[in-house]
Amino acid sequence: MSTPQHHIHLSESEMPTTWYNVIADLPAPPPPPLHPGTMEPVGPDDLAPLFPMALIEQEVSTQRYIDIPGEVLDVYRLWRPSPLFRATRLEQALGTPARIYYKYEGVSPAGSHKPNTSVPQAYYNHAEGVTRLTTETGAGQWGSALAFATAQYGMECEIWMVAASYRQKPYRRTMMQVWGATVHSSPSNATEYGRALLADHVDHPGSLGIAISEAVAACVADPNARYALGSVLNHVLLHQTIIGEEALLQLAKVGDVPDVIVGCTGGGSNFGGLAFPFLREKLAGKMNPTIRCVEPAACPTLTKGEYRYDFGDTAGMTPLMKMHTLGHDFIPEPIHAGGLRYHGMSPLVSHIYELGLAEAIAIPQRECFAGALTFARTEGIVPAPEPTHAIAATIREALACKETGEEKVILTALCGHGHLDLASYEKYLAGDMVDYDLPDEVIAKAMANVPVIA
Ligand SMILES: *Cc1c(COP(=O)(O)O)cnc(C)c1O
Repeated sequence: MSTPQHHIHLSESEMPTTWYNVIADLPAPPPPPLHPGTMEPVGPDDLAPLFPMALIEQEVSTQRYIDIPGEVLDVYRLWRPSPLFRATRLEQALGTPARIYYKYEGVSPAGSHKPNTSVPQAYYNHAEGVTRLTTETGAGQWGSALAFATAQYGMECEIWMVAASYRQKPYRRTMMQVWGATVHSSPSNATEYGRALLADHVDHPGSLGIAISEAVAACVADPNARYALGSVLNHVLLHQTIIGEEALLQLAKVGDVPDVIVGCTGGGSNFGGLAFPFLREKLAGKMNPTIRCVEPAACPTLTKGEYRYDFGDTAGMTPLMKMHTLGHDFIPEPIHAGGLRYHGMSPLVSHIYELGLAEAIAIPQRECFAGALTFARTEGIVPAPEPTHAIAATIREALACKETGEEKVILTALCGHGHLDLASYEKYLAGDMVDYDLPDEVIAKAMANVPVIA
């Protein structure tokens, strides 16, 4: 028996030149975001203080394919096409008949999939004369991705980093500063909302929702600034579809078709980026993969949250979005997968889940880190804490195949490396990591503050 190909390479000239907009192929469009004052769908004018027109157009577009600008392709070529790997050593270690493939996004300068959207976001802002971008970051991956992208276009970048991560991940902060960004611990003294929270609680751990409120407040106070979001929105998921488009071409090279696609979901962007091009093929009847979201048991937005209109941030400054939510003032336990600690889920992923086109499971963090060790010791790459959820789900599926003897093809996204998350591994190895259960009373309490829409 010959050894199967491990690294499935795509050449630069084979790199896709369009993003895929899944909305064009869905049986129904996702419900629109609403203005919290009027409860009417938000229009371009409502969003103009926050985003450049090109991104607002992409946000509401129903066009199936959108051309990737040449200037964005030029920056993408620094690390794209990204590799697809067949996890042969992991398969052997598990003794599974399944064939496991992972698309690796840790090869980007920031070490995750996030530059796939930070680069076009910086590009479109720059093209419309914006000189400064504000944003929030949880674990620091989005902040570093935006700091890298703004450096490419000579723009200023100001970042509110969730306080718990700011303390736990000093090297992420330094990385952002190396690329020239200004970084605040959030809640911060730089905004009125931050000052109010700090007055009540000097050691406030912060949350993504709070950091978004601060970054939005700083943006609207400066006419030359716009705001950038690293996940959740339609245009972000659109930009990430380069992942799935490449993976489709790579799998075709080895003649495999996925039976199961799993991805970790924080705001839904790496998952959507991988899964949507395959969903297109599924909706066209060309393949029939099961598509599965994996979330942390401590922040189970899809599996335990409600599908309702809610704010994207804690202070209630954003439009209302119809999404799976645990309540905009829900503050998740400080699990190590900081990028998965968000109270909501992308409206597009929520919608697809409601349509029955994707399923979801929640996994506690110790099982995820156990899977990550097996993965690192076989495949070599140390995963970021977020995709350890996708790896744990992949291992569950592969072990189920071992029971049944099914030779399923499993595809997952290894959306970032964990080189700046070794403190989490240190905790796991020392036996100090704990799992958090999320009691229903805690969810009910946070849901009580979600607006009731008539
Ligand atoms: C930000 C991030 C996530 C979570 O965001 P999604 O939009 O759900 O992809 C997951 N993994 C990594 C490595 C991240 O940087």
